[in-house]
Amino acid sequence: MNRPARTALSASLVLLLLSLAVILMPPVEDLSQQADAHILKADDGKQWYRGNLHTHSLWSDGDDYLEMIGVWYRDRDYDFLCFTDHNTLATSRDRWIDISKKPTGKDAYEKLKKRFSDGWVEERTTDGKTEVRLKTYEEVVSKIAIPDEFLLIQGEEVTDRFGRLPVHLCATNIKELIPPLHGESVAATIDNNVNALIAQRERTGQPMFIHLNHPNFGYGVTAEDLMRVRGEKFFEVYNGHPGVNNSGDPQHASTERIWDIILTKRLAEFGMSVMYGLATDDGHNYHEIPSRKSEPGRGWVMVLAENLKAGTLVEAMERGDFYSSSGVNLAKVISSPKGLDVEVLEEKGVTYRIDFVGTRAGYDPESKPVLDAKGEEVNATRLYSADIGRTFKTVNGTKASYQFSGDELYVRAIVTSTKKHPNPSEVGEFERAWAQPVVGPAAR
Ligand SMILES: [Zn+2]
Ligand SMILES: [Zn+2]
Repeated sequence: MNRPARTALSASLVLLLLSLAVILMPPVEDLSQQADAHILKADDGKQWYRGNLHTHSLWSDGDDYLEMIGVWYRDRDYDFLCFTDHNTLATSRDRWIDISKKPTGKDAYEKLKKRFSDGWVEERTTDGKTEVRLKTYEEVVSKIAIPDEFLLIQGEEVTDRFGRLPVHLCATNIKELIPPLHGESVAATIDNNVNALIAQRERTGQPMFIHLNHPNFGYGVTAEDLMRVRGEKFFEVYNGHPGVNNSGDPQHASTERIWDIILTKRLAEFGMSVMYGLATDDGHNYHEIPSRKSEPGRGWVMVLAENLKAGTLVEAMERGDFYSSSGVNLAKVISSPKGLDVEVLEEKGVTYRIDFVGTRAGYDPESKPVLDAKGEEVNATRLYSADIGRTFKTVNGTKASYQFSGDELYVRAIVTSTKKHPNPSEVGEFERAWAQPVVGPAAR
């Protein structure tokens, strides 16, 4: 073969290989064009609704009235809010509080009277002390909720413990109180409370769910405790309360690490479905913002749904049609059997890093306990290999795609902004968003 013929042949070979490569590796932009793509994006039928699912008021250990808290969120572009006082539903019409009992009580009372100056506030004097009647959930709904604009949801923080270990779960859209049911282990305590919600849902027919709160609060709940609870589909990867140790410590895994361990074990070993990660406020303190207390506005969920009804939101979240945020907004999240695409709703002057994290089949499944200085076992999430929760890909920018290579159990995306959180849970935190995990080819 002469030289020009050889060149022509190699040129056609290169072309052939190139077209093969194009066929085998479709461009990343194509994910949304695929028939089986699940696209989370606002369009004619659906929109993003922003909400907080973890809120305390004067009905338990929060320091403001339900209606004041509701208005705080309503004024700040939230679409929904779930009240979750400790082991309490705001249903009694005979609940009076002494305004001098809390250091912020007088301040809260003055602000309430100023904001609702139309005879709404009911007060009385008992033994020389001013008391205010706490409004019920129903009363607050009729006063400040706005159909299709601002929704209030009835909930509860089922506040349980196993020994000295706190086990808290927030129930969203419940009809009846769930008293803490206890159990013979942390896992059984979670399981019993979760099952009570499932039973209530079956009995009443009302869509509702329960999520495990702040696993690292008092380091009460480990990945091993939570991973096997069959009815539990949600946990807080981010809780705004500064005392909940989202990042863990040298002996305790971060909530991100706990999430990856749970996802890996569920998908690879237990034949279970994924668990979704929530961001919530867990607000208690409403009178000095910002401060280093548990103030509102730190973490929320963005739910893509066709309307602002509690049942619709619950069902959308159960399908994974949401992301969690501590400041970063996403324009789109597209998942398909081929991979995961994320697009950030860009804020001026800010740049973003998008990390895709997951675990591959064939990971090292061994784990060992955490030991203290004396060699004794610590009640903590066990130590697993670095195969679990690996960063597969990092992109600096506002758009990123991850295409499965074939052996992934799951992948999820975390977007981190260069903007510092204005009122963080932990000092120095940057604003983030968490896309929900997508099951990979190795777990289907
Ligand atoms: Zn709690
Ligand atoms: Zn709480």
